[in-house]
Amino acid sequence: MNKFSIAGCGFILAISQLALFPASIWAGGERQATDIYFLDAQKTLSRKLARKPNTAPARNIILFIGDGMGISTVTAARILDGQLKDMAGEENILSWETFPYTALSKTYNTNRQIPDSAGTASAFLSGTKTKSNVISVNQNAVQGDCQSTHGNHLESFLELSEKAGVNTGIITNARLTHATPAASYAHSPSRYWETMSDIPPAEQKYGCIDIARQFVNFSAGNGIEIAFGGGRRNFLPNFVTDGEGEKGKRKDGRNLIEEWQNRHQNGQYIWNETGFDQLDLKKDGPILGLFNASHMQFETDRHLDKGGEPSLADMTKKAIEKLEGKSEGYFLYIEGARIDQAHHAGNAYRALHDSVALAKAVQVAKEMTNGQDTLIIVTADHSHGFVMTGDVTRGNPILGKVVENDKRGIAKSHPAQAKDGSPYTTLGYYNGGGAIEGLPRSDLTDVDTEAQNYLQQALVPTGYERHGGEDVAIYADGPGGYLFHGVVEQNYIFHVMNHALRLDEKLKSVK
Ligand SMILES: [Zn+2]
Repeated sequence: MNKFSIAGCGFILAISQLALFPASIWAGGERQATDIYFLDAQKTLSRKLARKPNTAPARNIILFIGDGMGISTVTAARILDGQLKDMAGEENILSWETFPYTALSKTYNTNRQIPDSAGTASAFLSGTKTKSNVISVNQNAVQGDCQSTHGNHLESFLELSEKAGVNTGIITNARLTHATPAASYAHSPSRYWETMSDIPPAEQKYGCIDIARQFVNFSAGNGIEIAFGGGRRNFLPNFVTDGEGEKGKRKDGRNLIEEWQNRHQNGQYIWNETGFDQLDLKKDGPILGLFNASHMQFETDRHLDKGGEPSLADMTKKAIEKLEGKSEGYFLYIEGARIDQAHHAGNAYRALHDSVALAKAVQVAKEMTNGQDTLIIVTADHSHGFVMTGDVTRGNPILGKVVENDKRGIAKSHPAQAKDGSPYTTLGYYNGGGAIEGLPRSDLTDVDTEAQNYLQQALVPTGYERHGGEDVAIYADGPGGYLFHGVVEQNYIFHVMNHALRLDEKLKSVK
């Protein structure tokens, strides 16, 4: 027996529970029937046989996006999370892995085989696919061409929710003006037009305004109830220094934080952890939290932040508290943004720790909401060129070097060596900063591959690591969740949300 096989089941069942399985389910021999994996699978089967699809309307929807969280990332994060809890790791279950419904999502953009986050967010928020790098405008628009967006705006699920009287919230640990969050409230031919000075003067004259200003000007329904993220510099003029000593980026002299405060006299603006802790969630009026000049910290660096900043789970908790306090339902859109950015850097350590942080946020959402009236969806916008490979023994540290089994199936005492004589890691990237141009890969014998700043080796030297093009998973629980199965286009997510919330009917009744 392998040393992990007892810890090997999510649910450790006593042999006495065998009696719970009627002979009609299992009439075979006892060898399987006393095995914990067998018992666990029987229990899973019973759960699935008893499940009835919840076809009732959803009161609330929470959409979680793990930016760049492809399936290899989910598997590796599951193992890391388990190993952090002293398990072998493989048997661990992330919070969304208990959700009953899954589908595979095809992520390509209309003009790209392997997508970017702007095109993908526009797809699942608007119900139709579009080009890469554009923010909630349709595929008739041309990237970077302001005029081409006129008449080509796509209404996002968040805008439509507001119009229908549904409350809304946005949480990201990237800049609030970054592509994924921006697609919920802004329309732009370029994801890079975050402040006015990012828009070429020749384009400005056609009336396009920057993404930060579009956030402050947002006027659908009664406005966004709660928004947390980074990106403060895009809201402040370049002559203003913020509470953490960083300069604003705006060259048009506008202080959008003051503009937001003037617009919302009863609003609460906060920028650090103290302000976050002191938020009055009972008070009417919107909440805006901008916790960093640019992106918020990676989860493992969060404790180093000057002003202090909340975790994704902390922000999720406050947002649900605020939104649950209202009589209408809500749509809450939450992005674990930095999984993607760590992958781009070729750093699996931070990508996986940020995935675990997202799993904690999903756990909070599960615990705080009623599974009967709240649809929770967890998905990724796209994958990464991130691989998990090797004949690795059970329970091997996920960030470590490959250790194989011997001929008897027991872990060897030394890492495996490649043909070049050097050990190699289980995790790696196809391209990115971990590749060395024109030289053989470095010898890992004396390298700590589990260190926070270690970059996994890569083959193709592309500077930063690129997105992956294979399908990503959609996990769902709650009313309407049963509509996720099979292989679907990414923009289908909007259609399930629309059906679950009966948004169409709500919109018709307010018109
Ligand atoms: Zn990316």
